[in-house]
Amino acid sequence: MARRSFVAGNWKMNKTPEETRALVAALRETLAGYTSGDVAVFPAFPCLIPAAEVLRGSNIGVGAQNIYWEKSGAFTGEVSGPMIVGSGCQYVICGHSERRQFFSETDQTVNKRIKAALSFNLKVIACVGESKDERLKNVTRDVVKRQVEGALAGLTAEQMSQLTVAYEPIWAIGTGLTATPAQAQEVHVLIRGLIKEQFGTGISDALRIQYGGSVKPENARELLHQPDIDGALVGGASLVAADFAAIVRAAK
Ligand code: PEP
Repeated sequence: MARRSFVAGNWKMNKTPEETRALVAALRETLAGYTSGDVAVFPAFPCLIPAAEVLRGSNIGVGAQNIYWEKSGAFTGEVSGPMIVGSGCQYVICGHSERRQFFSETDQTVNKRIKAALSFNLKVIACVGESKDERLKNVTRDVVKRQVEGALAGLTAEQMSQLTVAYEPIWAIGTGLTATPAQAQEVHVLIRGLIKEQFGTGISDALRIQYGGSVKPENARELLHQPDIDGALVGGASLVAADFAAIVRAAK
């Protein structure tokens, strides 16, 4: 089944509001007229409004890097769905490995965040992926299965149509190491199989699965042309307009 590509830039804790304006303006110009796939950027929370302002009316979406499941209240440091929607976003990343590693997120809290995002009509990128240790111990399949089932527990078929899964092996994030196209394809097939078991063929065939982990203009084409790799979640290379645009254009 032909799936529309989706390339997303996770800016992490980089770029001030002023730097954000400059980067999204450059992207807007570079990607003007690009219609072959979906593209979105994920700046830090204070930069969402400037990004959305500059990108209004363009073909580039904006998303947040996280969401809290309550609407409002005494949750210091958290950001809710209505705040994210009100900042001009259409997307949210949930369960990034840095959130799991450094901020104690679990499959259960990731699941709550995903459900909250979907309830506010935000589209979700749900991240999964094994550590280096887990790959060396040959438990990648078990880890990814547990994360996929945990993150997506209780979602409806309709909600699944608003969701993208990102397979991001932790050992490849920000390290310069990339999964080989064959290694990535193998896990993408596993993920699609898990979705098929849980939600049926229609949903699994339509699901977009991004690869993430040191994607660069030089390696994007080969990765993105694997049959089950439908796009990329890009960290470091998304901070340079020309590099991110080159990755977008490399998508099938
Ligand atoms: C990421 O953080 O999602 C990521 C894939 O980062 P990088 O591209 O820098 O490895």
